[in-house]
Amino acid sequence: MAKKKAGRIIVAMQCKECGATNYQTMLNKATTPKLELKKYCKKDKKHTTHGSKEKLK
Ligand SMILES: [Zn+2]
Repeated sequence: MAKKKAGRIIVAMQCKECGATNYQTMLNKATTPKLELKKYCKKDKKHTTHGSKEKLK
C-alpha cells in the first residue's frame, strides 16, 4: 500500500514582483520550510522569483 504523504501541504507560488499566485505545488513543511523558485510570471511576462505561500483552506 502507498504511504500517505504525511507533512505535505499544498502551497501557492507567489510572484515577488507583482504578488500574483501563478502556481501551486506540494511541499513537505518538515524538510522544506521555505521554497523559492524562478518561475515564469504571466503578468510580468518574464521569469521572476516566486516564493511559497501556504494556502489556507
Ligand atoms: Zn509577477
